[in-house]
Amino acid sequence: MKLDALAFGAHADDVEMACSGTIIKLGASGYRTGVIALTRGEMATRGSAEIRAQEFAQSAEVMGLAYHRMLDIPDGRIEVTWENKIKIIQEIRTHQPRIVFAPYWVTRHPDHEQTSRLIREAAYLSGLKKLDTDQEPYRPYKVIFYQTRFEFKPSFIVDISDHHEQKMKAILSYQTQLSSPDFLDRIVTRDKQCGTYIGVKYGEPFLVHEALKIDDPVDFFGPEYLETIP
Ligand SMILES: [Zn+2]
Repeated sequence: MKLDALAFGAHADDVEMACSGTIIKLGASGYRTGVIALTRGEMATRGSAEIRAQEFAQSAEVMGLAYHRMLDIPDGRIEVTWENKIKIIQEIRTHQPRIVFAPYWVTRHPDHEQTSRLIREAAYLSGLKKLDTDQEPYRPYKVIFYQTRFEFKPSFIVDISDHHEQKMKAILSYQTQLSSPDFLDRIVTRDKQCGTYIGVKYGEPFLVHEALKIDDPVDFFGPEYLETIP
């Protein structure tokens, strides 16, 4: 099944907290979206792997995903190995996403940091003809990084105002992981803060390695940019 956008997280709920508003928005626009968790989350303090799989499935429905899957990389032990790269390459070649989302590489949890590297390297390697997985080679157009623990200066912010309620529903699918109301407040506060940077109610920030190409700056910088000047 081909996808337009495929988001990778180390654990079920990583993508939901960071960028599910954007995933939901893309799905609502008619794009085919998917989320892959690299682990089954068996190291989490609360909830078994089985319960986390149920929560993951429920969240996938809320987000309107065309595809969701948990891989079997050990939780707490994600490493940039050839074996793990092949697992990611097989997923990328199967779904041929135009864009891939991965966690920002500067983060606190080692699993998130390793996931960031793993996805970036696998996305590149996936395009090599001589790397044989019995599939067609395929390289996504762009790897886009979402924010986890630490902030970055975003390359761009997506307006998720119309989809924020649905984002919170997706996060609430993970009942076992919700430690306190403060936790939800922090997500709302961060989304609001990002929204203010682009003059909307809620936003999600993203980072790309390379500069963005714009053909027509006159057309691109329309009146909405004027409103964001404080
Ligand atoms: Zn995580």
